[in-house]
Amino acid sequence: AKKLGLSTYQVFEPKMHSHTVELLQIENDLRRAVENKDLRVYYQPIINLSNREITGFETLVRWQHQTRGFINPDDFIPLAEETGLIIPLGRFVLQNACEKMQQWRSAYTEAKDWVIHVNVSGKQLCQSNFVAELQAILKQTEMLPQNLKLEVTESVFLNQVPRVMEILHELQFLGIQLALDDFGTGYSSLSYLHKLPFKTLKIDRSFIQDLEINNDKLGILRAIVSLATHLGMDVVAEGIETPHQMAQLKALKCEYGQGYLFSKPLDSELMEAWFQAECLS
Ligand code: C2E
Ligand code: CA
Ligand code: CA
Ligand code: CA
Repeated sequence: AKKLGLSTYQVFEPKMHSHTVELLQIENDLRRAVENKDLRVYYQPIINLSNREITGFETLVRWQHQTRGFINPDDFIPLAEETGLIIPLGRFVLQNACEKMQQWRSAYTEAKDWVIHVNVSGKQLCQSNFVAELQAILKQTEMLPQNLKLEVTESVFLNQVPRVMEILHELQFLGIQLALDDFGTGYSSLSYLHKLPFKTLKIDRSFIQDLEINNDKLGILRAIVSLATHLGMDVVAEGIETPHQMAQLKALKCEYGQGYLFSKPLDSELMEAWFQAECLS
């Protein structure tokens, strides 16, 4: 056993070492990226399924790494949360999102009711001056609170629930809209959904995938849409990729959708070109 232990040690030690070094390297890179603002904010339209009009956009961050190219948020948001870098990163995204939305709202009459969705992580939400900083950004960008929607996942309730509730109610009081993201993937909070100030429910993409062939998913989807509607919430279906999925969602009376069928997330310039060509007269 001792021999095995020793050889295991010899085999794995260098790897573990390089793994730790690599993680530290990535953390350093991310810190620098946040400082240098090597981050890009992408936009994906949210569509009213009944008339195909744009109702708003979700902002999705990308990291433009100097040697590794574009890095997707799933590969660095967890690290950003662990290291606290999510706070300056989140501030950067919020600031950019509000500025861009104000530009679009003043440039296009069709845009005056558009809502910009911004993802907010639990750690960011619970940071002591989150609400104050958010108010400062709204004021500075002259953005109306009702044109901003913050998306949080159920994982925010892994933090202190009373504190999270207090912050959510404070945001609601300010007129900022709230969406519950990735609905159906966590330990779903059906029992207290009606007590939470969410205006919008976003149904996770996993329920929309292979909707064509999976009757169980259709049943679950029908139940979620009906529940949300009874509670007076809007429903956004994520990850719509085919006209057939869109037709099925419309048949279930799901009002809003988002997905590659309409557009992939694009940088602000490409998104502006997309909506000028696609949707504005
Ligand atoms: P999410 O909030 O659930 O965002 C939706 C994800 O689905 C995005 O991935 C989007 O590109 C992708 N998507 C949209 N439509 C389709 C489709 O039709 N098909 C497929 N296959 N995928 C689609 P993305 O951009 O890689 O973001 C991943 C996650 O990273 C987001 O999931 C969100 O949880 C997190 N994230 C992104 N930006 C931010 C941010 O600024 N702050 C925080 N805290 N989290 C962020
Ligand atoms: Ca989201
Ligand atoms: Ca989502
Ligand atoms: Ca997600």
